[in-house]
Amino acid sequence: MSVQLGMPQPREGSGAGVPPARPAGAAPGLLDRYGRRATDMRLSLTDKCNLRCTYCMPAEGLEWLAKQAVMSAEEIVRIVGIGVDSLGVRELRLTGGEPLVRADLVDIISALRSNHPDLPISMTTNGVGLDKKAAALKAAGLTRINVSLDSLHEETFTQLTRRPFLDRVLAGVDAAWAAGLGPVKLNAVLMRGINDAESPSLLAWALDRGYELRFIEQMPLDADHGWTRRNMITAAEIRELLSRDYVLSPDPRARDGAPAERFEVRRRVAGSVGPYEQVAAVGPTEQAAAGPVSEAEGPVLGTVGIIASVTEPFCADCRRTRITAEGKIMSCLFSREEFDLLGLLRDGASDEALAERWQDAMWVKPKAHGMDHTGLGAADFVQPDRSMSAIGG
Ligand code: SAM
Ligand code: SF4
Repeated sequence: MSVQLGMPQPREGSGAGVPPARPAGAAPGLLDRYGRRATDMRLSLTDKCNLRCTYCMPAEGLEWLAKQAVMSAEEIVRIVGIGVDSLGVRELRLTGGEPLVRADLVDIISALRSNHPDLPISMTTNGVGLDKKAAALKAAGLTRINVSLDSLHEETFTQLTRRPFLDRVLAGVDAAWAAGLGPVKLNAVLMRGINDAESPSLLAWALDRGYELRFIEQMPLDADHGWTRRNMITAAEIRELLSRDYVLSPDPRARDGAPAERFEVRRRVAGSVGPYEQVAAVGPTEQAAAGPVSEAEGPVLGTVGIIASVTEPFCADCRRTRITAEGKIMSCLFSREEFDLLGLLRDGASDEALAERWQDAMWVKPKAHGMDHTGLGAADFVQPDRSMSAIGG
């Protein structure tokens, strides 16, 4: 069988997309064998996208799913309803592909909001076209937005996304803020030799405007399968890059299952040494023995997040359940198995039967993704067939 990169392929062991039944008497909700409970739902609205980020999609050749294969607005609303009303989902993130390319996006959000008045509903977007839609999204009931922005330099942005749309994205970020979709969070993936050196200025730009920047470690979810552990920029390197201009200290607020580890950011005073530099220099044990470190002066300018999925994974505290655009349940971004929910729904299943399927699928959630087991090569880690755009990041 020829494999089309990035496209959904039959999964090993997934049979007809039916998970084994979880043990009788298992607690209700989206619980797994290791005691984790999923309350945070990521739902992909489409596999389509108008950018071609190098770490996500191929330059060309990725076929879209047929329209019929993708969940309709009504199907989305029903599935979210089951998650929220019966399975303990407390937070919803809409993603893709690019959610803004869906013509019925505002209608979907309105319907979700009218059914779930108190549900936090956020969306991750590349921001292209957001300037025109931000106000309508807010009015429809969207709570918050994350915009992906890897560079403020036109050339670098175009190199990374393979499209010359930086101005449109910046207009989208501003419009989101003006529409009240804050706090606006920005997602940046650093690529070695391309935009890594820009990280402090990207942070300065975000802090100036009151946006919360989060750096995401590049994960092996690119359709081109070009990721290498050796070449990715690690969280430790990100802290190091930022520490040239800033001092980072752990945000005292509880992380509470969030993928990003947050840091308070202060400007570095010339010659001062912060905790991360000391730990890097002498190791954590020695640093603890040495006692308090010198503090950089100056007020907290804001926060920065680092999502270290590869080198500092947070699998033990994962609270996510994912539904792909064609209605497959993925318990983990890196699952090799996915289970069909939409097919069952279209066969006329009851809400109870759909909830059962979802619970069974989550019960077999892997303990961890295994990406970093070997340090350099992660030899026992097998990259999923789907690219990030086809899963819903
Ligand atoms: N198209 C929207 C966007 O780019 O924001 C939403 C979907 S995108 C798949 C969601 C997030 O995944 C983006 O912030 C993107 O930067 C991130 N992402 C995509 N591929 C990634 C990879 N290989 N490693 C880490 N993050 C990735
Ligand atoms: Fe599209 Fe988002 Fe993937 Fe970039 S990261 S190609 S914007 S889906």
